[in-house]
Amino acid sequence: IPFFSGIFLVKFVLMGKTIIIGAGGQIGTELTLALRNQYATDQIIAADIKEVAPTLIQDGPYVQMDILNRDAVRSYIIDNQIETVYLLAALLSATAEKNPDFAWKLNMEGLFTILDLAKEGYVKKIFWPSSIAVFGPTTPADNTPQHTVMEPSTVYGISKQAGERWCEYYYNKFGVDVRSIRYPGLISYKSPPGGGTTDYAVDIFYKAKQEGKFTCFLSKDTALPMMFMDDAIRATIQLMDAPASRLRIRSAYNLGGISFTPEEIASSIKNHLPSFEMTYEPDFRQAIADSWPNSIDDSYAQADWEWKLGFDLERMTEVMLKNIQ
Ligand code: NAD
Repeated sequence: IPFFSGIFLVKFVLMGKTIIIGAGGQIGTELTLALRNQYATDQIIAADIKEVAPTLIQDGPYVQMDILNRDAVRSYIIDNQIETVYLLAALLSATAEKNPDFAWKLNMEGLFTILDLAKEGYVKKIFWPSSIAVFGPTTPADNTPQHTVMEPSTVYGISKQAGERWCEYYYNKFGVDVRSIRYPGLISYKSPPGGGTTDYAVDIFYKAKQEGKFTCFLSKDTALPMMFMDDAIRATIQLMDAPASRLRIRSAYNLGGISFTPEEIASSIKNHLPSFEMTYEPDFRQAIADSWPNSIDDSYAQADWEWKLGFDLERMTEVMLKNIQ
C-alpha cells in the first residue's frame, strides 16, 4: 500500500460515519457535496424527509428519514454506527411564522433526539445550526457582539435561542461535543433557499438574469448580514475540524459575513446588468428583518478557529451572475 493511501485510510477510520439530516435543503446539498469531496463518499450519508435526493447528491448514500420519528432515527444511527451528525432539518423564519406550533416541534424535538444520542455515547460530534434570528429588537443592531441582549420576537428565533441554550447545557452537563454557528442569510446558486427572510438576496439574481427586474419584499435600506454559501460551508467544516480545547463557545458562534441593503445588492448587480430595475413592496417579512441585526461581530470565531471571510459583495455578485442559468 502506498504511503499516502495509509494516511488516507487513517483519516476516514478516525472520522467514522457522518450523517447530514436535512441534506436535501439549501445548505445540506452543498455541505454533502463538500464533505464527500473531502472524505470517502460512502462515509457521508445524506438524509432527508424527501423521497428522492436532489440530483447533485445522488452520487452517494441517501436515506429517507423523518427527524420527528425518534425511534427510527435512533435505530438508524445506532445500527449504522454514525459518529458525526449534522442536523439541518428545520422550518425557516418566514415559513415558521405561518405555522408556529409545527416550527417549534420540528426545530426542537429533532435536536433532543440527537443530543440524547450523544449523551448516551452513540454520537461523538454534532453540528446544529443557529441563526442571526436569535437576536431581537432590543439587541444592539450594529456589529452585534457574541454575548449580548437576546430577545427574539419570531418563533424561529425563539426556537434557535432555546436550541443554543440546550446545546450549551448538554456540553456543560454531559460533555456532549456539539458545535454551532449563527448563520447569517445564505446565498447560493446550486440549491434554492427554503423560506427565510433573506431569500430575496438569492431570488434577485434569478430575476435579474431572467427578467431584468425584481420586486423586493424588504425596503431598500434594510441592511442584513449575509454570506456566500462557499464561505458558510468552509466555516462549518472548519469549526467541526477545530480542536475541542480551542472552542470557548458551545451555544453558537457569531459569523459576520457581508452586510448590505437591497439597494446595495441591486447596485452591485447593475454593474454587470446596467438595465436591471428594482422596485420595493415590503410584506410581513419586513417586520422580521427589522428585528434582526444590521451587522455582526465575529471576533470569537476569528480567534478560536481562525475564521476569515472569503467573499465580499462584489465577488459574490460576479460568481452568482456567472453561474445562474
Ligand atoms: P432548507 O429548508 O433549505 O432545508 C431543510 C431541509 O430539511 C429540507 O430539505 C427539508 O426537506 C428537510 N426536512 C424538513 N423536515 C424534515 C424532517 N421532519 N425530517 C428530515 N428532514 C426534514 O433549509 P436550509 O436553508 O438548508 O437550512 C438548514 C439549517 O440552517 C436550518 O436549521 C436553518 O434554520 C439553518 N439556517 C439557515 C440559514 C439560511 O440562510 N439558509 C440561515 C441561518 C440558519
